[in-house]
Amino acid sequence: MNTARTDWDAIVIGSGLGGLTAAAYLATNGLRTLVLEQHFIAGGNCHVFRRKRLYEFDVGVHYVGDCGPGGMIPTVLRGLGLEGKIEFLEMDPDGFDTMIFPDLTFRVPKGWDRYRERLVEAFPDEETGLHRCVDILEEVAQGSREMTRAPTPEDIAAMSQRAPTVLQWGFRTLAQLYDECSLTSRPRAVIAGECGTYAMPPSRTPVLLHAILLDHYLRGAYYPRGGGQVLVGHLVNVVRSHGGEVRTRQRVRRIVVDEGKVRGVEMASGELHEAPVVVSNADLKRTFLDMVGEEHISAATAERVKSFRMALPLFCVYLGLDIDLRERDIPNTNFLLFDSYDLEGMHEDCYEGRLPPNLSVFMTIASIKDPHSRNIAPKGHTNLQLMTLVPPHYRLWGLEEGPARGEKYRRSPQYQAVKEQLMEALIARANELVPGLADHIVWKEAASPITQERYTLSTGGTSYGIEMAPDQFGPSRPAARTEIDGLYLAGASTQSGHGVTGVMISGVVTASAVLGTNLMKRIREGEVFGRPELLPETGPDWDSWRASF
Ligand SMILES: Cc1cc2nc3c(=O)[nH]c(=O)nc-3n(C[C@H](O)[C@H](O)[C@H](O)COP(=O)(O)OP(=O)(O)OC[C@H]3O[C@@H](n4cnc5c(N)ncnc54)[C@H](O)[C@@H]3O)c2cc1C
Repeated sequence: MNTARTDWDAIVIGSGLGGLTAAAYLATNGLRTLVLEQHFIAGGNCHVFRRKRLYEFDVGVHYVGDCGPGGMIPTVLRGLGLEGKIEFLEMDPDGFDTMIFPDLTFRVPKGWDRYRERLVEAFPDEETGLHRCVDILEEVAQGSREMTRAPTPEDIAAMSQRAPTVLQWGFRTLAQLYDECSLTSRPRAVIAGECGTYAMPPSRTPVLLHAILLDHYLRGAYYPRGGGQVLVGHLVNVVRSHGGEVRTRQRVRRIVVDEGKVRGVEMASGELHEAPVVVSNADLKRTFLDMVGEEHISAATAERVKSFRMALPLFCVYLGLDIDLRERDIPNTNFLLFDSYDLEGMHEDCYEGRLPPNLSVFMTIASIKDPHSRNIAPKGHTNLQLMTLVPPHYRLWGLEEGPARGEKYRRSPQYQAVKEQLMEALIARANELVPGLADHIVWKEAASPITQERYTLSTGGTSYGIEMAPDQFGPSRPAARTEIDGLYLAGASTQSGHGVTGVMISGVVTASAVLGTNLMKRIREGEVFGRPELLPETGPDWDSWRASF
């Protein structure tokens, strides 16, 4: 390995899964690729952290859909020579999500037909409206799947003629669909119950987004054995074994642009790396406004970038318990706990900068999803996480500029007070569901949007990129290619959207744009770009965490 090398074929800023997937496809296609990550470990939102030598907590991989044979993530991995390297453990197909409302429990089963039946069972008085609503969602999902499988833009145009429901409904809101189907507040909330996965209420959610999301999980919900870092570690291995490098603790300060062309990047240390191609997986606004600089982009682009709204961020609580919930009769499901059916009001509070009085809490138990990986929690213990949507506003957290601009906050009394109050509220809610849980906490900590900003430098502490509302959806989002020759984007703010699957697709799309070929089509046809014989051994003792430094 030549660590002194400063000229590359491609540089990727950021090692989120979007950046790493792009880097892996570039490296396996022969480009000398350098990944620069500012944190001390690769993975961005998909990194994990270890505590007390007992627990390993996932930041942003809690469940992923469509990981059965031929599913999207396995397909992307197969194209890199990683087929069979990652095992996806399926959650309970009879109820991978369990929504608990004040007077109703709804378990979301695998498969559109069972989902439809269960909705009708729960709300028999609204059968006609429910059938209409599910018909439209299913048709939109089906149509969009066919459109993404279409090999050329011409086919997409033809396909959209054959999928008129996508055109008719895709860019209208879920609330409009509910109105059309005359649904009342309870089924409205149940159908949108997974809205935390994109952080918007029905009035802002495109039907197409919700249909894709539902379809994704209704094809089966999974957790990667060993946790989210396994995805990261394998992608890092691909880059490194195909002539590339992944370097951590490397913050890029500037993307060097000269006469409209990218020349490379300048590090916070002042060091320069040259490359004709730079892919930014970093925050969209910081990429253009801080790293590129307004002087290198058109006024229209600067205006557009500034005007994008970020998605709402999450607040997370990580708990280690000295009891083993695997020994209790708890199904392999996520629990979604709602104090009210008013999803609109809850989001409105966040937009206005208030903590919602009515909480919605997502609880996921890693040690039940993956009962045998010792890194997650030892026998006799439980690894459990709680999440809720919160406002991004600095003033709520007692800050002015944010940690990305160097502001210190961890000793701020207001910051500590808000964090403590929310953490205890979430724990109390979990304790109602699992009585006695609070008496067995041996590790607890919380991560706010400020923590998120500190570790990933994201604007507003979100991991979902720019909000996916209709005016910022699909073609209204930034494409992989930018107006600067050689500068590309990958990750949550691009057209493929956020989430593990969205950003991995974005990595493939971006590498396709750089290489001038349709990689997704070629992978689907069975082509494999990575050479498995170059990959390091990853037997049962392989540690994806250590592989990611
Ligand atoms: C709490 C939580 C729960 C989630 N749960 C799920 C889930 O269950 N399922 C799911 O599919 N998705 C989930 N997500 C969303 C998903 O994890 C993210 O959408 C996705 O990982 C974002 O990937 P990305 O490629 O956009 O890059 P990011 O993960 O945002 O990574 C960007 C990287 O760029 C680096 N960077 C930024 N600026 C610089 C710079 N100047 N120099 C060098 N490096 C830089 C950052 O440090 C970071 O590592 C969750 C997210 C969170 C936070």
